[in-house]
Amino acid sequence: MNIRFFNARILLIDGEKAKVSGKGAFSALENGELHVKGERISYVGEKPEKTGSSWDREIDAKGNLLMPGFKNGHTHSAMTFLRSDADDLKLQDWLNNICFPREARLSAEDIYYCTLLACMEYFSGGITGICEMYLTPDSIARAVEEAGMRCVQCGGVNNFSQSPEQMEEWFNRHNKPGSLNEFRLGIHAEYTCSEELIKKVADLAEKYHAPVYCHNSETAKEVEDCRKRTGLTPTETLEKAGIFQYGGTCFHCVHMTEHDLEICRERDIRVVTNPASNLKLASGIAPVSSFLSHGLTVGIGTDGPASNNCLDMFREMFLVTGLAKLKENDAAAMDAEEVLLMALYSGAHAIGLYESDCLAPGKYADLVMIDMNSPNMQPVNNIGKNLVYSGSKSNVLLTMVGGRIVYEEGRYNIGHTTEEIYEAVRDVAEKSRV
Ligand SMILES: [Zn+2]
Repeated sequence: MNIRFFNARILLIDGEKAKVSGKGAFSALENGELHVKGERISYVGEKPEKTGSSWDREIDAKGNLLMPGFKNGHTHSAMTFLRSDADDLKLQDWLNNICFPREARLSAEDIYYCTLLACMEYFSGGITGICEMYLTPDSIARAVEEAGMRCVQCGGVNNFSQSPEQMEEWFNRHNKPGSLNEFRLGIHAEYTCSEELIKKVADLAEKYHAPVYCHNSETAKEVEDCRKRTGLTPTETLEKAGIFQYGGTCFHCVHMTEHDLEICRERDIRVVTNPASNLKLASGIAPVSSFLSHGLTVGIGTDGPASNNCLDMFREMFLVTGLAKLKENDAAAMDAEEVLLMALYSGAHAIGLYESDCLAPGKYADLVMIDMNSPNMQPVNNIGKNLVYSGSKSNVLLTMVGGRIVYEEGRYNIGHTTEEIYEAVRDVAEKSRV
């Protein structure tokens, strides 16, 4: 499809400035045009002399905002079946008595439908890219490719499921050029893997010169237990084992030492913060200001819907800045535009989606249109601050991934009806409860 957006306000990101800070990296083009040819953006700028006539569709943006889609840097999408059925428990009860036993009853087909439900929520909230860690990569790939979601899956090797051999097979099978679905090496976490498993995954990182993704230092207990066992923090343990020889991406990183952050900087380990999940499970407040002062690439994730429970990047952005202010006891600790950069641009880099990081010719057409004519978005004194402090999912008018409009004003174009998906997930929730 060739699609022309006109009369749009377009959020531009200066990549050079973005390397230093979110402040000053954004600008807005008024009365702009954005052209999409196939899966990529072909033009961004003022109205050209000739716009041509070979458009499948021409969309009057009516002064509304076009911006890159949000990147949800860490999630377990299919946990939608546990929404509002695994809450207000201590973390270990939540994990061992609810999540693990009920997940064990899921089939690949169940995970397919539960992932589709999450995709609906992502699209209606302006999310165009996710980093996924879950159980059945094949059925997840089928769900995201049908729905039209750009997805970076990562392995979750641990002592109970997913072997390094299985992960290597997925790694080789799921990285086809042109596919919406990619696959990265990954372990669930240091505390769920034996030394032998960690060594095998480090060998794969060496073999493929590939980064490794993992949960890291989510709780104080995890760090304390690791120290007792090894004398080192989880970051130091994984680094020593060779996991990060080609970089990596770590989720959570709530309890990090100065030395851990130095390792991240030296090894180009990217960090994804998950504020709502960390709050709801009482894990703590991540030192996001320190991530930035150490020059780390930072993204934002929702984590799974069993620990959040919604998949909403507007809420996550507000929490990142609000919690950083609280943690540092300084209302100037974290600028809204810094956070917006994490949700759009740095977040794309944190999970390797370099071709979806901004709106520019040649990039994937992964974008959203935001309603600027809603009361919560007026007046437009500062677009970035409006988005972070007063914006909401209700402002998302349209979501496009790879040139395909997957959501538009309440309607989904994902190859399935809403009723079919809701019914299938209701059945999965019921079946898993026993
Ligand atoms: Zn997680």
